[in-house]
Parts: sequence; C-alpha cells; structure tokens
Amino acid sequence: TQPLRRLESKSACPYCGTGCGVIIEHDGQHITGVRGDPDHPANFGQLCSKGNTLHLSSAGEDRARAPLQHRRDSEDWSPLAWPQALSRIARQWAEIIHTQGPQAVALYVSGQLSTEDYYVANKLAKGFIGTNHIDTNSRLCMASAVTGYKSSLGMDSVPCSYEDLDTADCLFIVGANVAYAHPILFRRIEAAKLRRPELRIIVADPRRTPTAAIADVFLPIQPGTDVALFHGMLHILIWEGLVNRAFIEAHTEGWEELKAQVQNYTPQWVAEICAIPVANLRAAALTFGQAPAALSLWCQGLNQSSHGTDKNVALINLHLATGQIGRAGAGPFSLTGQPNAMGGRETGGMPALLPGHREVVNPEHRAEIAALWGVERLHPQPGYTAVPLFQAMERGEIETVWIACTNPVLSMPDQTQVQRALEQCRLVILQDSYLHTETAAYADILLPAASWGEREAVVTNSERRITHLQVAVPAPGDALPDWVIFRDFAFALGAALDTLDHPLPSAKDASWTARARRMFDFTDSASIFLEYRECTRGRDLDITGLDFAVLDARGPQQWPYPQGAQAGQVRLYTDGVFPTPSGRARFRSPEYLGVAEEIDARYPLRLTTGRLRDQWHSMSRTGKVAALFTSDEEAFLEIHPDDARRFGLRADALAKIRSRRGSSILRVRLNADLQSGLVFAPMHFGRRYAPAALCNQLTLAAIDPLSGEPEFKHTAVRVEPM
Ligand code: SF4
Repeated sequence: TQPLRRLESKSACPYCGTGCGVIIEHDGQHITGVRGDPDHPANFGQLCSKGNTLHLSSAGEDRARAPLQHRRDSEDWSPLAWPQALSRIARQWAEIIHTQGPQAVALYVSGQLSTEDYYVANKLAKGFIGTNHIDTNSRLCMASAVTGYKSSLGMDSVPCSYEDLDTADCLFIVGANVAYAHPILFRRIEAAKLRRPELRIIVADPRRTPTAAIADVFLPIQPGTDVALFHGMLHILIWEGLVNRAFIEAHTEGWEELKAQVQNYTPQWVAEICAIPVANLRAAALTFGQAPAALSLWCQGLNQSSHGTDKNVALINLHLATGQIGRAGAGPFSLTGQPNAMGGRETGGMPALLPGHREVVNPEHRAEIAALWGVERLHPQPGYTAVPLFQAMERGEIETVWIACTNPVLSMPDQTQVQRALEQCRLVILQDSYLHTETAAYADILLPAASWGEREAVVTNSERRITHLQVAVPAPGDALPDWVIFRDFAFALGAALDTLDHPLPSAKDASWTARARRMFDFTDSASIFLEYRECTRGRDLDITGLDFAVLDARGPQQWPYPQGAQAGQVRLYTDGVFPTPSGRARFRSPEYLGVAEEIDARYPLRLTTGRLRDQWHSMSRTGKVAALFTSDEEAFLEIHPDDARRFGLRADALAKIRSRRGSSILRVRLNADLQSGLVFAPMHFGRRYAPAALCNQLTLAAIDPLSGEPEFKHTAVRVEPM
C-alpha cells in the first residue's frame, strides 16, 4: 500500500465575509482535515464551528459530477457530455438573442463565486452577449451598503480594518448579530472587551441576540426604525456640543440641511418611534459622541430593508458629524455577508456596475471597459436587480436564465413568485456543486461546478483583504471551475451565433467564434486575475501591484495595492479627502419612513428572519455535518410567551405562520427575551429539511428604491396552532 501523503494548501473559509484563512489538509485526492491559518490577519488561526467542520462537508453523493438534463415533469436526470450540454444551451441562447435581442437573457450569480468567476461571467454578459441583466445574491445582502457608501463617501469602499476592533473606544453594533454571523470577529470583540473593560459597546437590534449579551447599552428598537434612531442620536450630539465642527467644515458638505432636519427628531419623539427609553437613547448618543474613537458595525439589519440606503447614510452621518472616520479605531464598517460579496462588486458583477468600481451609466467608464475588452460599445442602461429580474422572467420578458452557485428558490423573498418565474422561462440553467438544491427542481440543465478546495482563485473579505486560494484536490467527476464553464460556454455561443448569421457589431473579428476566442483567451485563474487587475489601474481599488506570487509571498493584502506598493492600505480617507467631485463627504438627509408592510388586525405580528450560528445559507454544505445540528435541530419560530398564550401556541408544538403571500409551518420556541409583537425564524431551512418550513414563502418582495435590496427583516404575519 502507498503511504498516505500529508499535504497542505492555503485557502479561506467559504462561508461568511470575515474571510478566515484556513489550511486544508489533504492527500492530493481527498480533503482530510482543516485548521485555521495562524498567519492570516482575519483570524490568526481561529475558526468557528462552521469553519472547523469544512472538511466534513466537501465530498459526498450529493455532489454534481456531470452535466445533467431534466424534464420538468420528471424526477429523472440524464447525463450529458460537456460539449453536448454547452452546445444545447448555446443553440437556444443564440436563437433567443437572434430573435428577441440580448436583453431576453439573464444571469443570476453569487457572492460565493471567486473574483475570477465573477469577472468572466460579467464579461460574458455585458461584453460578449450585450445584456446588463446580471445580478447576484449579494443583492440580498450588501447592496444597501454599496449605495450608502457611494452616496455619502463617493465610492463603495469600506474605510476600516479588523484591527480597528482592537483600538476602538466605542463599538456601535446595529442590525448585526456578529456572535452568529461573524463569530471570529465577535471573539475579537470579546477579547478587546476583556483586555480593555473601558471599551463601551452599544447594540441596537429588535432582538436581544447573543451579541447583545456583551452590550453596555442595549437598544431593542422596533424593526425598521433605525433612521429615526440615528437622527435622534445626532440631535442629542448637536445639543450636547459633541459634533466636530472643524471636521464638518473642512471635509463635508450638506451639514446645514441635515442639522435643520434632525432638529425635529427630538429624543422624546425618537424614543416613542423606536419604543426605547429616552435615557437609553441619550446614553447611546453620549457614549458614541464622547468616545475618542468610535467604530460602527452593521450588516443585514440595516441593509435588508426597503429603506436600506437611508439607514446606511444616516449611520454614516454620525461618523461624519463627529469626525469618526479615517483614524485608528474609528469609522463606519459594513460587514459583508458572503466570502466574496466584495469581489463581486470590484469586478462589476451587478447590473449597474462595470469592473474597477465603474458605472454602466457613465459614458467614460463604458468607453474605458469597452477598450479594455476590445468591444465596440456597452449597453448604457443598468440591467434588472434580483427582484425585478425574476418579475421580468414571470412576464416572459426574460426568456432564459443562467443561475450560478446560488439557490434563489429558497433564498429570494416571496418564493412562490420565484417559482412561477422559473416555470415561465424557456430554459433554466443551474450551475452548482450540489444536486439537490430547491432550485434544481426548476432547472432544465444542471452544470457541475468545482467547489471549495478544488479551484485556484482570489476572494476579498469585509476589510478589503484579498486572499489567494490554492487548489488542494481535484473536483469530483467532470465538475469544472465556474470560470471555465463560462469561458467554454462563450466559445459554444460564438459558434451557435455564427450558424444563425447573427450580425457582428463590427468587422473587428472575423466571426463570433473568433470574437469569443479573443475575448476569453484565459488559460488559468492567474490570466484572468491579470486582466481584471488592469481594470483597477488608477481606480480607488487599484491592485496593479498584486499578483498570485506577491499574495503568496506577503500573505493576504488589503486594497488599494498599486504598482510599487509594499503593503495594502489599512484605512481609507486618512487625509480627509473623499472621492466625490468636491473632495468632501456628503451628509444625506433622509426622513424616517416606516416599514413596507405594516401590521394590522389580520397580520398582527412582525416577523424578522436571520442566521443561526451553525448553519450557512441554504445548508448545501453545513446541512451535511451532524455536529452543526446540535444547537438547532430544525426550523423554528421564536415567540414571546405572552404572544404564544395570546395566539394559543404551546412550546414545541407546531404552528402555522401566514403572511399575505403564503404560509409556513414551524415549531414553536418560546423566548422571553424577544420583545412582544416580534417573531423570529431562521432563513436556512429548505424542503430537504422540512417541506413546509420555508420562511421566504412569507417574506415580501418590497425593495429599497436605490439599492434594490429586499425587506427581509420585516413581514406582517399571523400565527395559529396546528
Ligand atoms: Fe471565519 Fe466566518 Fe468561516 Fe466562521 S464562518 S470560520 S467566522 S469565515
């Protein structure tokens, strides 16, 4: 027998945006173990329960190993060879593009994709096909932070670093259960509090989550009232003389308008809106305002809202008014949900974006990317964001969709609409590593993708840090890296368009086949990275000084990292200059607006959804690890005991939860810490775990008008015993 080879490859955890470094232990064929990378600055060797069990979730019978086709009225899948599968899709896409135009096709991708995957998918959609209808499940996650940063600071750039957690004097955690959603960052916060008990922590959240346990000031605000909270805090800061007039005068604009507006947000009125004591509101404002360095952390509680952008800018206002930005321990720090949500933004993998933080609507930006890609022009209108995209499918306006590395039938709001949309499509392609996701039932063709540990790539975490992921083992069967599938499809589509005599935009290429070969001349991940890198030259996220060799030699680096740099940039805006036309950050003055769907006599409870500590998204990976079901075995509905009595529910019994869109059956869990009138359900569980427990049957598709992000955090529901 051959002695077992003991090999190690460096990678990053594929779950949350903390982006912890991991060392994959393997024998060249199988992943045998995993441990935290002691040299990675995101985690210094620590891993949470999900990261620690990564090796148990990699292989398995549920992995997709070959392209499969499927008749929608049958459970049977039949295998296809890669060339057959791609040319079948290409023929149908070419016919749709030829007869209906490129706007009739769409891609819906994922924050789980690598930067290279994102770059190639975006180039395929916008550069080769000519459709801007490419959105990502990051729309459900960080889109409001993107519009918030751009609106206030001029660019989608997180100005802070994890090391700011170690030096902040005040942490303002709002709409983020860091203890569950970013556990390693929470350990860092706990360590900072132990080391410096004088560190003040404010937590604002409708639920008393495990994160609230560390709070000095806890604000159990009503769902959706964050803008009022931030304006109320600013009102108090102005009244108490705790604003930084020198910073405001030197580095901002729009102050007088905001000041006049927040005059109306008196502590009494805000306390009433938020349903918190005035004293607690004052304590939060004074704690923030008196801190030498204040850092705010937020996540989906602000973003997943029909007013998510307003919430982001109102929080950033607090930092600008107090000069709490661009210094150690200070700044507005949006925590990204997924491992490469930021990489997707960088490569322009959203319908309004182009690579290098460029905008589709900006003619200069379009010209720059068209020149880099060697195409004549790019479509000037942003494509559909996720919710309107699925609505356009249902209307028949989009005839085919390519879904990559995400499970929208479980994760999108108003799931029955998503199901109708996919049923309406002429051809649904699903590219995934797993066979049995909820979305697979609606797919005509399933393409097997390589997964974590099986492909070389880079990803960017919440603090702008780029990590190089090495290959450890081969992908199972015929599974391929996502970028290879997109590249090979471009070749097949080029050939299919040539058979239809589809007109080329110019005589630059002899044929669509030649055009595809020229545009997708990628041989490996490094060749894509080098092309993408060129798109960042001279931009705020310039990484022209990075390549895989630099990342391997110096370790993961934060952008910007321009040519000649010796290290990435820890903090942005340290000079007080912002990337706006005037160089000043902008105070924004949104009014507080209520939630999209208010409670009433028929639907008297407020449902909020969120993550569990030990599960990830729709559980394709974490659902395979028995140890991760120890804390929470099944889906549940948390409800205050008084509300349970009021509606006749008993602990551990099943309850039916209804909204205006659908219903769900969940086991009742009593929680006296939950405010009365609020109920909570985890987002993860799909049909494989509980056929009737899908919480997104209930949620609504109301979206933020600027970010397009849906309001997952508030749905009016009623409950009844089963
Ligand atoms: Fe780190 Fe997040 Fe992975 Fe946990 S889930 S190991 S915190 S990246």
